[in-house]
Amino acid sequence: MNCSICKNGVTTRGQTSVTLERGPITMVFKGVPADVCDNCGEPYVDNVTAKPMLNAFEEAVRKGVVVDVRQYSAGELSSRPTTFPRQ
Ligand SMILES: [Zn+2]
Repeated sequence: MNCSICKNGVTTRGQTSVTLERGPITMVFKGVPADVCDNCGEPYVDNVTAKPMLNAFEEAVRKGVVVDVRQYSAGELSSRPTTFPRQ
């Protein structure tokens, strides 16, 4: 598809990192499948890919996790997050 940010680029299948933040809570997802603009680098993550990340984020909020870094590989979130619990 054509990039809606720069209007010049075309997106190709690639990977990106996604950071979700709410208050003191930060979650980082690495290796997230996305369509990436070949011109400006803007990543487009579809809803199917985003959903498990949002679910994991809500879970982290409930548990009081402050920082959580996860690897997104083969379309799945790793089940073993790298977690730094609240002090
Ligand atoms: Zn672009």
